[in-house]
Parts: sequence; structure tokens; C-alpha cells
Amino acid sequence: MNLEALVNPSVLTQPVYEPGKPIEDVARELGLDPATIIKLASNENPFGPSPRAKAAAARALDQGELYPDGGCVALRARLARAYGLDAGQFVIGNGSNELLELLGHVFLRPGDEVVMGNPAFAVYKLVTLLFGAKPVEVPLVNHKHDLAALAAAVTPRTKLIFVPSPNNPTGTANTEAELLAFARSLPEHVVFAFDEAYAEYLENPPDLRPLIREGRKIVCLRTFSKIYGLASLRVGYGYASPAMAALLNRVRQPFNVNAIGQAAAIAALDDGAFVANCVRDNRAGLAQLEAGLCALGLKTVPSVANFILAKVGDGARVFAELQKRGVIVRPMKPYGMPEWLRLTVGTPAQNERLLGTLAEVLCG
Ligand SMILES: *Cc1c(COP(=O)(O)O)cnc(C)c1O
Repeated sequence: MNLEALVNPSVLTQPVYEPGKPIEDVARELGLDPATIIKLASNENPFGPSPRAKAAAARALDQGELYPDGGCVALRARLARAYGLDAGQFVIGNGSNELLELLGHVFLRPGDEVVMGNPAFAVYKLVTLLFGAKPVEVPLVNHKHDLAALAAAVTPRTKLIFVPSPNNPTGTANTEAELLAFARSLPEHVVFAFDEAYAEYLENPPDLRPLIREGRKIVCLRTFSKIYGLASLRVGYGYASPAMAALLNRVRQPFNVNAIGQAAAIAALDDGAFVANCVRDNRAGLAQLEAGLCALGLKTVPSVANFILAKVGDGARVFAELQKRGVIVRPMKPYGMPEWLRLTVGTPAQNERLLGTLAEVLCG
């Protein structure tokens, strides 16, 4: 009997996630010195983690022989204090990607429907398909989630709705008023997963806690991978009603989050000044990119996040030419936008290099 005959059919048809290329891979493939390559492809923080988070991570390594605290007790307590919620309302994941998968474990069965925007974060669709559920994709309007259209796509089979704000890859956000009205409009049988991966970059992030306190079926997802600069340590978290958090905690692995990541995450939360500086520097970097792209005559989508879409024509070609010159960005063909690139805001010097290299590639 061949192997495929044994496999869960949704595994055989499962699409593969295309991540931003690691610097080492590009260096090897193109024969470049890794030290000369810049990566502005995965919305990582160009300023790295807070020094306090790095120190805490190093200290945690001293006890590397011990299993981590499987309950993430200290991190959940720290988050509870920050949010004014109960520690039992938090679930910590191996990145918020894991939490997306846990939602699938808890809620999805073959035949269920999951409503999401298009283009939106690719993992929503991957998780949906992995559990044999059906993605129902609702086109964005002016690159922004059309919440009324998403709500209208709900059927009796809908289990989950994913909304990111700011959205990846478009960098657009919905207002708090829009999101609250949308959440209130959803029927009882739908769980609203609100992805706040880039919320820290917003001046006033929408606050859905009043609805969580009312007992609505909402899970808010955050991550230490973006503004906190800890993508390599894989820590994300969700907050929800105690009942919802308990369900998500029930389906995770006992030691899903490593001790180094837990320690770094707590220290990162304690360093508010670092985050504030990153927000400020990101705004300046975004303005630098917007101005430079505009000067090159490129259309962009106004962004409130730490990345920006730019329309460059033949996205695959420009991506490849930039990469040859040691600048890694993200082509948007997998998101159905082949003429666009997604550019992560870097340091001022990285932004300058990106703009200069782009000028060279586009104008010869
Ligand atoms: C980067 C990102 C995430 C999560 O990343 P993790 O590293 O798994 O925490 C989640 N949602 C969106 C929209 C993202 O862009």
C-alpha cells in the first residue's frame, strides 16, 4: 500500500506557507556575504529585542536543563496586571501562529466554514484547510477589511471569523467603533478571532475587553514577534473569557512555550520605554519609506503598521533583483498581488539602502 493512501486527505492538499527568506539562505544561493544582506521581509523589529529582554533570556539559559513552566504562570500574571484581566483569561502560544492552530483544534470540524478577508494573513486559510474546514474569503475594499461584508458572509456553518487589524499584508486598520459594532453584530454560534499582531504600533489600539467581559465569543491574539523583537523565541498570547481561554489551554502541548521565551517576554513587557522608542522610530521610518517610494513614482497603500505595500510593476522581477543586491523583501504574488512588494520598515540606514537599491533596479 502506498503511503499517500494512509494520509488524511487534507494533508495532501495542504498548501505550503512561504516565509520570508532567511539571510543565510540568500547568502548561500547568491554567493553574498551574509553581513551585507538586509532582511525587510517579515515585519521583524529592526532594532532587535529590548536589552532587558536579552539579559533575561541569557539568565534563563542558565537553567536550560529544566522543563519550562508549562502553565506560563509568571507571564500570565504579568499580562493580567497589564490588561486588568484575570490570569485565567490568558493562553500563551509558541508564537500566535500556534494559537491560530489551537483555535482550529477547539472549534473546527470538516465542513465548517471560516470567514476571512482576502488578502489577509496567510495562516488563517492554512489552518482552516488543515482541519478540513472551508475558507470563505471576502475581498478587501480599498485594501481594508470590509466588516459588513464579512458579517454578511456568515452562514449557519460558520464557526470562526479572523480579522487582523492592522492587517498583514496591507497595513490598514479598522476603527475601534467599527470593530465593536462588528463583534456585537455576530451571531452566537461564531467565534471572533481578532489578530492584534501589530496593535502596539497604533496610537490607540482598539479595546475589545468590554465585549470579552460581557462574555462574548472573542479571542484577541497578540505576539512578541513584532514590536518586541522576539520572533526567534516564538511567544504569542491570547486573551478571552475564562471559558474560552480554558478551552485553548486544554488543547495545547504541556510545554508549548520555552523558558527563555517566557523570561524574555516578561522583561520585554517591563521595558515600556523601549517599545515607545520603537513606535516613534517606526513612524519616522514609515514616513521615510513613503516619501522615498513616492519620489520614485510608486503607488503605496497608506499603512499604520511597520511595513508598507508598494506597487512596483513586475513584483517577482523586482524582488529577485533586490535580492541579488542583498535586500530581501516580500513578493506579494502569493497574496494575489503580483505587482506589489511588502516592505518592512527598517532602521534609517536600511530604509535608505532599500530605496537606493529600488531606484537602481527600477530606473537602471
Ligand atoms: C506575524 C504575524 C502573526 C504571528 O506571528 P508569530 O510569530 O507566530 O507570533 C500573527 N498574525 C499576523 C497578522 C502576523 O503578521
